Amino acid sequence: MKTTLIISAAKAIHSALLNNETQIESLDRAIGDGDHYLNMKRGSEAVVAIADELKTITPDAALQKIGMTLLSSIGGSSGPLFASLLLGMAKFYKEHQAEMEEKDTHPKYAEMLSLGVQSMMQRGKSNVGEKTMLDVLVPVCTTFVNSAKQGNSTEEICRAVKDAADKGLEYTRNLVATKGRAAALGERAIGHLDAGAKSCQVMTYAVCDLILKV
Ligand code: ADP
Ligand code: MG
Repeated sequence: MKTTLIISAAKAIHSALLNNETQIESLDRAIGDGDHYLNMKRGSEAVVAIADELKTITPDAALQKIGMTLLSSIGGSSGPLFASLLLGMAKFYKEHQAEMEEKDTHPKYAEMLSLGVQSMMQRGKSNVGEKTMLDVLVPVCTTFVNSAKQGNSTEEICRAVKDAADKGLEYTRNLVATKGRAAALGERAIGHLDAGAKSCQVMTYAVCDLILKV
């Protein structure tokens, strides 16, 4: 993996979030406190702003720097969660550097993302079924790991991963929230999608579409 791909992913994520402002914003307004879109926009802007600095460092250092930038720029409950995701990925990359740079890296990328999501779960003391971004990220990881293990092509993996993100997002609709601000609403949260799950679905699409282009 190259740092330039990480920078392109950050830029693609930033513009995808901007393109989905209305939906992300209104979802957090319905069952949260309405700041999720602004938090994500601030975080992704801060990462795009350090692109030149990132260009000069290794992929693991870049992932780590992005994690620290997100920690200080996003705020809310999602800042530390996304920071944990990136720092977990950085740790995995550093420990498996040689394999990450080999030719068939799909299974390694899938493991790297999984380790990041596990760090996020530890940080948030959360799991699937709690109406959070994990309802998208966990099935995305599982699908990525399984599809990569089967030796599928990049196109097949991306198609399956995007489908998992859609299903995970839709799954949050009928859940009661047990984490985050929506937890205070009890059954009144039923019928609404989770804002964090929506932004993760948007980011999943952005990264997959980018990978399909390169
Ligand atoms: P805040 O809740 O502080 O307003 P944001 O609005 O930026 O922060 O983020 C809210 C999103 O964070 C929720 O929609 C949910 O997906 C996610 N979230 C909240 N708490 C947790 C947690 N403990 N584990 C995983 N995700 C969480
Ligand atoms: Mg919020």
